[in-house]
Amino acid sequence: MLTIQQQRIPVNPFSRPGKKLVAKRGIVMHYTADPGASAQAIGNYFSSLKNQNPDDGTGDRYASAHIQIDRATIVQSLPFDEMGYHCGSKQPYLPEALSKLGSYPNNSTVGIEMCIEADGLIHEDTFNNAVDMVVYLIQHEGFPEVIFTHKGVVGWKDCPLPWVRNPSELERFKQEVHSQLNSQEEEEDLNLSANQWTILTTQLKELFDKKLITDSTWIDKAAVKKLTVSELLFINTAILNRGIK
Ligand SMILES: [Zn+2]
Repeated sequence: MLTIQQQRIPVNPFSRPGKKLVAKRGIVMHYTADPGASAQAIGNYFSSLKNQNPDDGTGDRYASAHIQIDRATIVQSLPFDEMGYHCGSKQPYLPEALSKLGSYPNNSTVGIEMCIEADGLIHEDTFNNAVDMVVYLIQHEGFPEVIFTHKGVVGWKDCPLPWVRNPSELERFKQEVHSQLNSQEEEEDLNLSANQWTILTTQLKELFDKKLITDSTWIDKAAVKKLTVSELLFINTAILNRGIK
């Protein structure tokens, strides 16, 4: 994973209210809607919002995200336990967002901005950097594996637009995060027919009786069809070793 570059927004009413999150309930994905703009440039923009004058009669913009990502850079603008303004809505939030994120999702989520190329698309490197970032947030910052898009929170905003146009990209993103989170844990059991499991169990019993294996739990595991490739390789090596002696 890329090093996270720190570029904090100064505390200000428009982009860093300085409030703590009330809980860590989810991760909200965005796109920058600014073709060709870098992660740093977007961070600078969020910081520049502090210069707005609330009393000048012009409309003020409240916006920020915790993280901006481009093809080669990850920039962090807000601490992960502080609130940003990335998915607020004056209209009602979608039911799934309300149920998983609470009544005001800004105060329970981290917001991630994905930069877009000049053609408006999210580059595959940016996509992969975002996968790394989300995996990091789940493994090291206490966020659950609950991934929303901005659109999925508020309903009315087409963000990230490339994923709104092509929803399979969101699914691919979630699957990639999930498989990275589980890559060390999920080893499949042996893919054997029922008859083969029976034969394997019988053979392990015979090997146990001959004291070529000494741990009967292997037999129990085979009997309930729960033996992995790694475990069988381990058993085979032990048997070969004892067979030679
Ligand atoms: Zn957005």
